[in-house]
Amino acid sequence: MHELAITQELVSLAQSQALTHGARHISSITIEVGTLSGVIADSMAFCYDSCTKGTILEGSTLKIVPIAALGWCPDCEQQREMNSASLACIECGGFFIKPEQGTELRLVELETD
Ligand SMILES: [Zn+2]
Repeated sequence: MHELAITQELVSLAQSQALTHGARHISSITIEVGTLSGVIADSMAFCYDSCTKGTILEGSTLKIVPIAALGWCPDCEQQREMNSASLACIECGGFFIKPEQGTELRLVELETD
C-alpha cells in the first residue's frame, strides 16, 4: 500500500526533527496533502496508529490539511480550480490547464509535549 510507505516516511521525518530539537514526545503533526498528490488522506489516517506505535509519536494526532488543485488555464486566461479526477479546468473543462498547486505532500507542523 502506497500510503503506508508515505506515512512511515513522514513518521521517521517527524521523529528525527523532534529529536534534533530535544523533544521526547510528539503530541500531533500537521501535514498538507494536495488533491493531486495521489495520496488518499483517509488511508494515511488509517495506518497512522500502527506506524507510530513504539515511536515518540505514539498516541499523537495526525492533522491533514487538504490543498486544493489550482492551475493556469490558457482558455480562461486565469488561475482556476482543477477537477482532481479529470485534471480539467473546473470552469471551462479545458485540458490545457497547467497545474500550479495541489501536488504537495509536506510536514508543516510538529507539536511536542
Ligand atoms: Zn478554463
